[in-house]
Amino acid sequence: MIKIIDKEFIPYISAEEISKRINELGAEISKAYEGEKPLFVSVLNGSFIFTADLIRTIKTPIEVTFIRVASYEALKTTGKVREILGLKENVFGRDILILEDIVDTGTTLEHLLEAFKDLGTKSIKVATLLHKPDAQEKAEKPDFVGFEIPNKFVVGYGLDYEGLGRELKEIYQLS
Ligand code: 5GP
Repeated sequence: MIKIIDKEFIPYISAEEISKRINELGAEISKAYEGEKPLFVSVLNGSFIFTADLIRTIKTPIEVTFIRVASYEALKTTGKVREILGLKENVFGRDILILEDIVDTGTTLEHLLEAFKDLGTKSIKVATLLHKPDAQEKAEKPDFVGFEIPNKFVVGYGLDYEGLGRELKEIYQLS
């Protein structure tokens, strides 16, 4: 058990399990993109460790870039506005693989998929380390999923609680 600020977390997925599953995902993804040169788009902050570990298991040439999704309340509208920040590459006609740490409600993903479609990508697939199928309401199911998990808050391996816990080697679940 570990404590971060006011919350207690219990060990959930070990470093060994994560590493083993990422090797499997890497093999699947390498096969899917054989003979292509996809652009991997990693969504910061949470995906940085997953990205670093995953790309080193890929057996086909790839490019990697990092983006952020800014989210803010727009004046006089009910929903949130989301905007992609930091994309320097021309993605027109390219095969894109979005790398996410976790897909929860799918809201972020839905926005990303729309934004990339608008930019004229040839294909868009999604790889996520974690997926909460019971929470997802929006977007298609991700193409490559590391672990399907219940609808409980997790930290570690890049994911934070109030900015803390990203450095943990394993994934912890709120107890
Ligand atoms: P969505 O838009 O799919 O609801 O949520 C996506 C974002 O919410 C993720 O990229 C992540 O930043 C955050 N998030 C959702 N569930 C969790 C969780 O269990 N733990 C952490 N640390 N972040 C989460």
